[in-house]
Amino acid sequence: MQLELPLEFRRTELVSRGHVCLGDEVVSYIIKRSHRRRSITLTIDEQGLRVGAPWQASQRAIENQIRKHGAWVLGKLTAWQQRRAPPRRWQDGETLMLLGEPLRLTLAPAPRTTLRDGDLLLVGASAHRLPDEVAQQVIAWLQEQALACFHDRVAHYLPLLVVPPPEIRLSNARTRWGSCHRDGRISLNWRLIQVPLRLVDYVIVHELAHLREMNHSPRFWQTVGRAIPDYAARKREIRTEAHRYLLG
Ligand SMILES: [Zn+2]
Repeated sequence: MQLELPLEFRRTELVSRGHVCLGDEVVSYIIKRSHRRRSITLTIDEQGLRVGAPWQASQRAIENQIRKHGAWVLGKLTAWQQRRAPPRRWQDGETLMLLGEPLRLTLAPAPRTTLRDGDLLLVGASAHRLPDEVAQQVIAWLQEQALACFHDRVAHYLPLLVVPPPEIRLSNARTRWGSCHRDGRISLNWRLIQVPLRLVDYVIVHELAHLREMNHSPRFWQTVGRAIPDYAARKREIRTEAHRYLLG
């Protein structure tokens, strides 16, 4: 004989955690089991992956469902990570990135200069300066480095791609690394100066190749490939890894 709990004491939801391997990534998730649910659902937002499952669903069925949609899950998780900018406090000792190399932000009581010394970025700032002011000063310095670097890399790739020299502008876009305009101008995101040079080069070559082909046709990718044979790996890397280097 079974002892039935009174209805009001029956739990309607059970929350637990799980992990699943997708490729070489371990993805953690939260499972919410409910008596009302009839199928397994996957939701991804800023909190990560959440699985809604019927009360009786087996662990195996849940994992199968996640694996079946593995590419979608990884893509969505990456997209959310990219949107989430690392919190930056602009304090002494914080790490910044320049071409993929860490630089330690070092505030010194000195005139308002910004100077790189090995792996230190010396920022002249009195103890009373507000983080916003330090941020402005460092970002202005990064933008200067960006412009010099981009001009240099464009000059390097122009002869390989056989395109006329474009006008280069820095952009502050939130969602794109670069763009190419029909009048022969290219815009490059100053934040690119934080990622490794191989990825900067990929974005530059991509935009320069648009000066020949204003589309993403096979001929466009052939042009990119002539300058950067391993462009496909770099393209993937900038999509999945670059956010690690970025300032908020
Ligand atoms: Zn493009």
